[in-house]
Amino acid sequence: MIQSLHCHKETPVTPSTQGPQPVPTTETAPYWQAALEGRLKIQFCRSCNRHQFYPRRFCTECLSDGIEWVQASGRGHIYTYTVCHVAAHPAFEPRVPYAIGMVALEEGVRMLAGIVAPIPDRLAIGEPVEVCFEPIGDAVALPMFRLADGESTASPKQR
Ligand SMILES: [Zn+2]
Repeated sequence: MIQSLHCHKETPVTPSTQGPQPVPTTETAPYWQAALEGRLKIQFCRSCNRHQFYPRRFCTECLSDGIEWVQASGRGHIYTYTVCHVAAHPAFEPRVPYAIGMVALEEGVRMLAGIVAPIPDRLAIGEPVEVCFEPIGDAVALPMFRLADGESTASPKQR
């Protein structure tokens, strides 16, 4: 299932367990489980009708605990980014140069994530992106973003 959502369309990468792995907590477990299933989930506050990210026990706007998990569109745009020419971890060295950015989702929240894109071609603030999922272990998939090709407004899950 993850394979069809893979960030690298042409050259699938074998899941690596060499790099750092996320450690799900009580607050983040639903996020990681959804990612493993190829879905991007964020929190929504039923009291003040706003989304929030990253996951927390309470709404940061109104302090309500009426938080629920909802599926995000997976679409957004690059709010800001940087290109890493020095790997932050030895496992990332084959990827250099790689991009990390703040993505503004359609739901109004921002996510820090890896951005899969030819560097520097088309990598720019404001570029539309869509979520994709990078398997980084047997039981973990990392939400990342790739440049939206503009051919379809369908979410990656539907392709
Ligand atoms: Zn709220």
